[in-house]
Amino acid sequence: MSSVTEPTPQVTVVGSVNRDVVVRVPQLPRPGETLAARGTSERIGGKGANQAVAAARLGARTCWVGAVGHDGADVLAALEAHGIDVGSAVRVEDVRTGTALVFVEDSGENMVVIDAGANGRIRPEDLPRRITGALLLQHEVPATVIDRALLAADGLTILNPAPWRPVAAETLSRVDVLVVNATELAELTGRPVPRDAAAAADAVAALDAVPTVVTTLGAGGAVIRHHGDTRHLAAPSVPSHDTVGAGDTFCGALAVALVEGADMVEAARFAVHAASIAVSRPGGQEAMPTAEEVHAFLQ
Ligand code: ADP
Repeated sequence: MSSVTEPTPQVTVVGSVNRDVVVRVPQLPRPGETLAARGTSERIGGKGANQAVAAARLGARTCWVGAVGHDGADVLAALEAHGIDVGSAVRVEDVRTGTALVFVEDSGENMVVIDAGANGRIRPEDLPRRITGALLLQHEVPATVIDRALLAADGLTILNPAPWRPVAAETLSRVDVLVVNATELAELTGRPVPRDAAAAADAVAALDAVPTVVTTLGAGGAVIRHHGDTRHLAAPSVPSHDTVGAGDTFCGALAVALVEGADMVEAARFAVHAASIAVSRPGGQEAMPTAEEVHAFLQ
């Protein structure tokens, strides 16, 4: 239980963490081919961890709840180094921490294989009984865990259903804000992938199960449908260096702005700018901005 000296988190992320192994290759290998890599690097990824890092870098008291494997001590230490509370994380001894094998060729094209590892082994009973502040969820943990987290939440709930899998109506009924990209919106509505804000606004009009749906459109910004009103927020024009983690930065930033009292349109504008800063810089988590950087960019 929290005490006065241990402030409750403003943002709790229940989600994944991966060890990303990034292998740079001249071109992506064909089946059966053996290729010499240009080099290999490791970084911490996974949508849950990325969104927690985005929130923490923006200054929110952030808690990450998820599972690591027997090899996960350094992964937890890396999250803690960002100021994230990992006290509710679980360790599953007979499995490895989630792993993403990322091959990136010279053209920038990539190929990713994810072994969920411990992310697939977290159980509903591993979660805290009560989750305060804003709750941020993605689809890299089992659906049963998402449902339990939504039941335990006593604040705002945000679901980013990525990677896509169908969402049960009962799950959606407990979500306050749904954040999707263009592809996920198409999956959700059964319509073609929207190519512009007008098409996204049109598609989103059919979704009334969730009070607020935010659709991100890459360089096209975001479309917000909030209690029946639809708004388009343009993204600032930035050089696009690295779009890895753009959506995660957006989700973390949206949660932080909402929990700090911004209204939905202000919060989405903050998130669009935060994500645009992230794409304008190389890297994943290290490209995520601070609150000062976003406010300076918004002026
Ligand atoms: P995802 O990475 O989940 O597919 P998007 O590509 O829709 O998400 O990007 C999320 C957000 O990142 C956008 O709403 C926008 O704010 C920002 N963004 C992404 N690509 C660009 C870009 N080329 N220029 C400016 N902002 C971008």
